Amino acid sequence: MPIPLQKLFTYRITAAEADFIKVGTRVAVPFGKSKIYTAIVYEKHSEEPKAYEAKEIFQILDDAPIITQIQLQQWQWIASYYMCSLGDVLRAALPKAFLLESETLVLKNNSFEDVSILTDDEYLIWEALEQQSKLKIHDIAKILDRKGILSVINGLLSKDAVDVKEEIYEQYKPKFVKYLQLHDSYTTDERLHQLLDDLSRAPKQREVMLGFFQLKSGSEEPVLMQELIRKSNSSTAIIKALVEKKVFDIIKVREDRVSFQTDIKPIHELNAPQLVAFKEIKGVFDQKEVCLLHGITSSGKTEIYTHLISETLAQGKQVLYLLPEIALTTHIISRLEHFFGDKISVFHSRYSVDERVEVWNNLLVKSDKAQIVLGARSSVLLPFSNLGLVIVDEEHETSYKQFEPSPRYHARDTAVMLGHLHGAKVLLGSATPSVETYYNAKQGKYGYIKLDTRFGNVMLPEIELVDIKEKHRKKRMKGHFSDRLFLLIEQALGEKEQVILFQNRRGFSPVVECSTCGVAPQCPNCDVSLTYHKFNNELRCHYCGHQQPLPKTCPACENPTLDTKGFGTEQIELELKELFPEAKIARMDLDTTRGKYGYQKLLRSFHDQEIDILVGTQMLTKGLDFKNVSLVGVLNADNLLNFPDFRAHERTYQLMVQVSGRAGRDQKRGKVAIQSFNPYHQILQQVTTHDYAAMYQDQMNERHQFSYPPFVRLVRIVLKHKDFVKVDTAAAWMGKSLVNSFGDQVLGPTSPSIGRIRNKYIKTILIKLPAKVSLKQSKGQIQRIRDSFMAIPDFRAVQVIVDVDCY
Ligand code: ADP
Ligand code: ZN
Repeated sequence: MPIPLQKLFTYRITAAEADFIKVGTRVAVPFGKSKIYTAIVYEKHSEEPKAYEAKEIFQILDDAPIITQIQLQQWQWIASYYMCSLGDVLRAALPKAFLLESETLVLKNNSFEDVSILTDDEYLIWEALEQQSKLKIHDIAKILDRKGILSVINGLLSKDAVDVKEEIYEQYKPKFVKYLQLHDSYTTDERLHQLLDDLSRAPKQREVMLGFFQLKSGSEEPVLMQELIRKSNSSTAIIKALVEKKVFDIIKVREDRVSFQTDIKPIHELNAPQLVAFKEIKGVFDQKEVCLLHGITSSGKTEIYTHLISETLAQGKQVLYLLPEIALTTHIISRLEHFFGDKISVFHSRYSVDERVEVWNNLLVKSDKAQIVLGARSSVLLPFSNLGLVIVDEEHETSYKQFEPSPRYHARDTAVMLGHLHGAKVLLGSATPSVETYYNAKQGKYGYIKLDTRFGNVMLPEIELVDIKEKHRKKRMKGHFSDRLFLLIEQALGEKEQVILFQNRRGFSPVVECSTCGVAPQCPNCDVSLTYHKFNNELRCHYCGHQQPLPKTCPACENPTLDTKGFGTEQIELELKELFPEAKIARMDLDTTRGKYGYQKLLRSFHDQEIDILVGTQMLTKGLDFKNVSLVGVLNADNLLNFPDFRAHERTYQLMVQVSGRAGRDQKRGKVAIQSFNPYHQILQQVTTHDYAAMYQDQMNERHQFSYPPFVRLVRIVLKHKDFVKVDTAAAWMGKSLVNSFGDQVLGPTSPSIGRIRNKYIKTILIKLPAKVSLKQSKGQIQRIRDSFMAIPDFRAVQVIVDVDCY
């Protein structure tokens, strides 16, 4: 069931249905008092459930499975590993269109005669049913123009005037494309000539006919209606007139929504180091299922992927290409479609429901269109039928971990499991592998291949640290720009080169603070300060979406001294416009890249050099490859380093190295300037020397000392409730029970740095499970504690979230 239930439910079917129903098909089933759900058949068996009477299914919805056996195994693994329900996984995996909606229809009972017993409202509906024979509930609501329609329907039902019926409908609507062909009566040239003569008084229709013959030019194929309209500059109305005259017939053909049509080019030949790596990877795959490709930025990892993809396709197998972020897919598609054309399907949440259903179906039937699936996180849950290779690009990216809602799975780790279930190979690629993956490679669990030369021997950029503490002291700052960074930008612009500036924060300034009393306006629903958005002069909460105009005076002391403090991409953009009035400046962050094509458009104009300086957040760091960027500036490395999280240093290293990789890709050596108050920080030093191994060693030492992954597994338990006392008591109970089982491996309960979100108070408990202890046993123990917790009436309303391998 697509709902968070811990158990599977058994329904009764007839012997005939048992023959017909297959595991993995959808059935509509009644549940609870009056609900109907789309459920998936998990198993056919003949054991009667003991705790309840099995109901009958409502309807069989598919003749063939829409979910594979391997998917069911994989989902089961996710449910047990990430401690969630199978229903959670089902909901995350299945495009919504598969989860049918049901709708109540009201039908007229034809044997009913005595209308005199009906009330006025009932009669209105009865009358409407004489016209239409069936009505939907919301039609009835319109007729009666008020909400209490249920009593009216109940009245009609009790008088036997109507029946009600649940109608189940598919939300998925295939798209049809219209083609035109000549009507049968126009098979001879004579008839055609006569037609053209007849049309001499209808010049527009005549034009269409001529266009039609041009497009057809002797072939037997029908002509695409849209193309004819475009070609002959006509309209649907004119075509319709010709259809009515019985000149044309319309043929409707179902067509998938997303298709790529390009000239296919042969894939690039690999250079010598790439070829070595490619062969080594294949060598690893003879022995192991998983291989890490540690290749520096611009070494040509993507080119190696294309060779592996090509070989996998030649074996008739499917490929899954995972990317950490939707935004990146457009960039990779445009690279891959040159080589693989319409063998690529794309799957991600910005695509429409119908587009997603198409990818799903194409995979199920092993269609040529879905030989390569490119997608973000959730594509790891798709119905592959013959998977040969999984590529996890930028495997270190934390966005692979689902945070909200359940299932809180890690797509990289789930991909490794997916590969295992299919007997497919899994390649993890990164210039800056995650500590966990590198550790797995060092332990020999994964193979490890290193690629150390950049394509075309482009030099790694020269990285310079700028001490802004010193610059502030010497008054050499203009806003957030040191004189050094200013000079570098000026030089780059002088050479007609492009600049990328990286700033870690979204919004104009995270905090608005009163310079008299020091109070910062707070979100009414969450324990955070509101963020100032300059363009509409508004304060917003990034946690709950609350927004309000910037007050003129301080809400605490009422002085007109609210001051913006800190900075974000928006302010950097404003400062730049003042510093470099001639330059074309653009900003890339969540605010400027909304919509399906927002990101794409911005990248295109940067690529076409319509933008000189691009200011952006994390989005800028990945996979982009611009030939004309000679300078990358990082405005402030410290807010990354100082983030209170055990992965903060690792992430800073990854982000700095990735963002540096955007500089200087062709002949010229790129330049990177990193501004920091603390340029002697070990991590920044390791960034300047590209010393991954040293970074890894330091991080491992720290994590060993303080017990963090990969030495332990983290399970976080989050409790939420509107009432602070309630959540506090509940967390104390939970914490105590956990300590009984796990001793000093339990940390907390504590209040997180943001202790209240959307009016709910939050408490967290962290459990560190040592790697050698049986994970299954520990999780069983946690589950038992959760069950006893839920059984306490006072705690039932407390929301409990379990996050395994939490970030
Ligand atoms: P990475 O993924 O390791 O950062 P890319 O695959 O993006 O590196 O390669 C960087 C650039 O070099 C791209 O523009 C790519 O097209 C080019 N390139 C890399 N290898 C080759 C090759 N063998 N033939 C042609 N171009 C290549
Ligand atoms: Zn809020």
